[in-house]
Amino acid sequence: MNLSSRLRDTAARIGEKPAYFFMGESSTYAELDAAVTRFASGLEQLGVKKGDHIALLLGNTPQFVISLYGALRLGATVIPVNPVYTADEIGYILHNGDVKTVVGLDLMIPLAEKMHERLPKVENYIVCETGGDREPDRSTLSISPKMKTFTDLLAQGSQDFQGPELEEDDVAVILYTSGTTGKPKGAMLTHGNLYSNANDVSDYLKINEDDRFITTLPMFHVFCLTVALNAPLISGGTLLIVPRFSPGEIFAIAKEHKATVFAGVPTMYNFLLQYHEGKAEDLETLRLCISGGASMPVALLENFERKFNVVISEGYGLSEASPVTCFNPLDRPRKTGSIGRSIVNVQNKVVNELGEEVPEGQVGELIVKGPNVMKGYYKMPEETAATIKDGWLYTGDLARKDEDGYFYIVDRKKDIILVGGYNVYPREVEEVLYNHEEVVEVAVLGVPDPNFGEAVRSFVVSKNPQLTESELLEYCSEHLAKYKIPDRIEFLDELPKNTTGKILRRALKKQVLQSN
Ligand code: AMP
Repeated sequence: MNLSSRLRDTAARIGEKPAYFFMGESSTYAELDAAVTRFASGLEQLGVKKGDHIALLLGNTPQFVISLYGALRLGATVIPVNPVYTADEIGYILHNGDVKTVVGLDLMIPLAEKMHERLPKVENYIVCETGGDREPDRSTLSISPKMKTFTDLLAQGSQDFQGPELEEDDVAVILYTSGTTGKPKGAMLTHGNLYSNANDVSDYLKINEDDRFITTLPMFHVFCLTVALNAPLISGGTLLIVPRFSPGEIFAIAKEHKATVFAGVPTMYNFLLQYHEGKAEDLETLRLCISGGASMPVALLENFERKFNVVISEGYGLSEASPVTCFNPLDRPRKTGSIGRSIVNVQNKVVNELGEEVPEGQVGELIVKGPNVMKGYYKMPEETAATIKDGWLYTGDLARKDEDGYFYIVDRKKDIILVGGYNVYPREVEEVLYNHEEVVEVAVLGVPDPNFGEAVRSFVVSKNPQLTESELLEYCSEHLAKYKIPDRIEFLDELPKNTTGKILRRALKKQVLQSN
């Protein structure tokens, strides 16, 4: 079984059920499955074969879902790319990923024109029409001979297409992760990886046919891909596809479609909480809110749950693990501040520098084993060997486990701040500041210090323009040991975030270093 064959089975079983709603449009499972088959067949007619690489430069749209499942049905490997990346970033991924076919919005045509000469391996550009009036004159484009519209491809595809046999170990998706150093690395996830993780997440969170799932996380990111796209589709649920996150849109969609599950990163919860018009009644049908992608500040979780009368379950994952390894269970006590327990079929362990498991309560690196762990990084055997040892994936995250088997992420290994020989975990300081009622967002990081090696620096977005640095430092001194207190607190209008909504501590650090 794989994602695409499972979709075919679901369409045969509950074909009339809505698979998704999107800006006033909808599609049943039977219609979605038919579009997927036609897309796969259309690709085959263009000469795309099993094992070829297809990049998707698409936002949250039905075309993303159809292209993803269509390419998988043909046995091609999908490389989802953030469409707002610069030409250089996109060019790097298309080149490194040996991409032969690109699916993108017509808005991307000027970019494709620019990159075309540098990417001789690209044989096909499939263009999704956005209905804008900026349609360029095709005859003047140099990519014209390689260009086809999404609509034409679907129209010429055959409904009788069967597709090749797919093996569990065949690479289904390559996800370029920002990585820790250097250029992004392509994590190769197999059909087996993606299918098992979507299934295991679905079982663990009891996702079912009655679920209406708000899909607003970016589809090109692994959190959305597995948790808010594949898991609901595997379970016969309905996706409520939101093209771009905005609090007003989320409340409106939740109310209109009686949504049952919302998945977001902590910054999204923060935006929803700060949104003045947000009413608990609009969210009353939600049975579950899922948080992941970054640590959920406890104060934010508690304020959100109190205001909207919902339950947030925090989980944890990373691209290299397809992504989910832990979640707070639904049928046992939920522990705030924890990423929960190992999901079915996945093992999590906390180890020391020698790879030996440390006793409960002690901090070490979190390592992971299971059917969800990637095959490796594309064309990077050394990086793969450094990351997967004896079948265990080294996450680079520091964690501890409690006596009930719940894990707690302490911080990224590389984000630890060393103040005069003492370890300071940025998260610990952030949690304290989040508790201050005037504080909206916080990021804490280490900056060079002539006396102590590093100092703790804090960046705060505040609700109240009158709030002063000394008030906040005073507050910190009531809750933190002296060496953990920030040397300075800088106020910003907003914190830099990536398109998934994760706060970019490292971008802030760069700014600080440049301004010094
Ligand atoms: P990505 O590969 O983009 O999904 O990023 C994975 C990284 O996000 C992990 O290695 C963690 O550092 C971070 N992360 C994901 N979920 C959590 C969580 N619940 N708490 C803390 N960090 C998280």
